[in-house]
Formats: sequence, C-alpha cells, structure tokens
Amino acid sequence: MTASSGRQPDATSRRRFLAAAGAAAAVPAAAALIGGPLAGNARAAAAAGDLPDYAPIPPGALGPALNADGYFAGNIHGNLYWVTDSVYQAMFLSTRNGVVLVDAPPTIGHNLLRAIGAVTQANGRPAKVTHLVYSHSHADHIGASALLGADVVRIGHSECRRLLLREADPNRPAPTVTFDDHYVLETGGERLLLDYHGPNHTPDNIFIYAPDHQTLMVVDVIFPGWVPFKNLAVSQDIPGWIRAQDIAMGYRWQTLVGGHLGRLGRRADGNLQIAYVADLLAGARATIASLDPTPFFARYGNNSWAIFKAYLDAAAAQVAAPVTAKYLGRLAAADVFTADNAYVMFESLRVDYGTLGPFGNHP
Ligand SMILES: [Zn+2]
Repeated sequence: MTASSGRQPDATSRRRFLAAAGAAAAVPAAAALIGGPLAGNARAAAAAGDLPDYAPIPPGALGPALNADGYFAGNIHGNLYWVTDSVYQAMFLSTRNGVVLVDAPPTIGHNLLRAIGAVTQANGRPAKVTHLVYSHSHADHIGASALLGADVVRIGHSECRRLLLREADPNRPAPTVTFDDHYVLETGGERLLLDYHGPNHTPDNIFIYAPDHQTLMVVDVIFPGWVPFKNLAVSQDIPGWIRAQDIAMGYRWQTLVGGHLGRLGRRADGNLQIAYVADLLAGARATIASLDPTPFFARYGNNSWAIFKAYLDAAAAQVAAPVTAKYLGRLAAADVFTADNAYVMFESLRVDYGTLGPFGNHP
C-alpha cells in the first residue's frame, strides 16, 4: 500500500489547516474535520465574540512541531515509533515481518501510512501492516482501520469485538483475534503484551505493553501535561477509570503513549494526574458533607430535577474552584474541563461510591 493511495479530496486542505493551526487548535480542528454547519457555527460564534477565553497552554504540555503533511512521527526506542497530529496518537512496531500498528485515528488517517513508509524506507524493513491492535472500540481512535485493508490481522478484546459487531461500522471492522485477559503478540523479533484489567474508559479498553522498550500505551486514561478530557474522559466506569491510572503506573515503563495530544508521557505525568483526580475526589467528599441543600429545596419545591440540577451544579463549582486554581499552569486546560470533571466525580461519589449526601437520607 503506497503512502498516496486513496487520498481523499479534502485531505490536502485538512492537512494544511492542521499544519497552520498547529497544536493550539483542537476545537477548530474538530470543526474543520466535521466541516459544514459546525465549522460555520464556530465561525459565527467567534465573529460574535461570545467564545470564552482560556489560560495559555503551558509550553511543556505541547509536543513537537508537525510536518507539512500535518503529523509528527518519532522513534520511542529500538523499533518502536509513535505518530501524532497533536490531538491524537498511534504507535507502531517495525518488525522483520512487517508493521504492528496500534490504533488508527481517522484524524491521522493516511498520515499513518506516510509515517510508516518513511520509517521503513529508512530501516529497510517491510512497510506492510500485518497486525492492527485496537486499544478500544471508539471511532475516534480506530476509525481509519479500514484504510489498512482486509488482510491485516485485527486484534482486540472480546468485548471490543462484541461492540463493533453491534455497531457494524465499515470503517471499524471487528477484530478477528480476540482475548479475555492476556494476549502475547510476537512477530518478526518483536513483542507486545496486551492486558485486560476490567472496564474503565470503556468496557473493552486494554493496556498495550512493550516490555523491551519500557513503553506502555493505554488510551483515554492518562493525559500527559493536560487535565483529562471532559467528564473524566467521558468514561463509562469512573471507579474503574480511576483504578486504571494506578494499574498503568504499576507497569514498568519510561514512556507512555496516552492516545491524545501532542507529546509522550513520563512517569511524573501519571503521578500529577493521579494527584489531580484525588483532589477532585477529596473535594467531592468535602462538598457533599458541607453544601447545604436547604436553599435548593426551598427554591424549587416540587421540581425535583431543578433541585438536583442546581444542587449538583453548585457542588461541581465548589469542588472545581480550588482544584482549578491549584493546577492552572501545571496541567493544560485546567480552566477548560475541571468543572465538568468535578461534576462527574461528584456524581460518581454519590452513585458509585454510595455517598449520597442530602439525597440519600432514609425516611
Ligand atoms: Zn475513547
């Protein structure tokens, strides 16, 4: 498969846009990728001047500059490489038999093949992708899977297969090689260990470990340099997701591929996020013990949902304020997503951890 095969008509303008926008443009980039109405709305809102301002991104949160095609490909160690468009990341092993690719984010798309082509041209190894590992079933991380063709061996968790068979998305063929707990992928002198530790961000999210390269890839769990994406990475199992941070740190690694944003992770990034999340949970516990629900009941009477909404919004704001102040400048976008993260943590404290507060009193 050549690097130029199947280039789509909009790919050049997309790459130009991404290259021009650089790392600072996650939201405009998303709008451009979707195109049409959303991009129009974003322009309209910007023109109207009603988009909020946020603090500058700490330089240490940003990754390397992108090339003219809109991506960066770098060596991690030995034959292990990573690719980013500054918003998404993939990883690949160049083996004697071909390439083992982990994830195929559609925003990187054909640039995955360009990056693989450049690396294998330099090292003389085969460019053909023989295996594609799915970190999890989400389209934003594997939606370019179909670009790799029909004969690549797709590997994922058994729950990933179940979900993808249900979705029947032609862009995301279901993995044909699946596992429940552990899988060892050995080919061409290289190996990856795939581990399942239970539901976290999704029910099927796995840990991809390259022990010979001291590298762990786990997606949508740790966000090096940045606060987690909105609502604690839109995770389906919050206690499982919080535990997944610790499970990740339990592996021996020096490099983390988090699947998002523009740079690789170091162990300090994991520890810093764990501290941020622990502060959110501690803040939620303190808030549920201290926030007086009386004014909310008095104001909204028989409108139960209004009571809940106003109380939970106030709780999230109370949790978020000191955490935002503490991490602004240390974690990028602390002022962007901490209120949303606090809201989800507070609700998880109630329904997952069972600390129901004023809405859990036995009559
Ligand atoms: Zn995801």
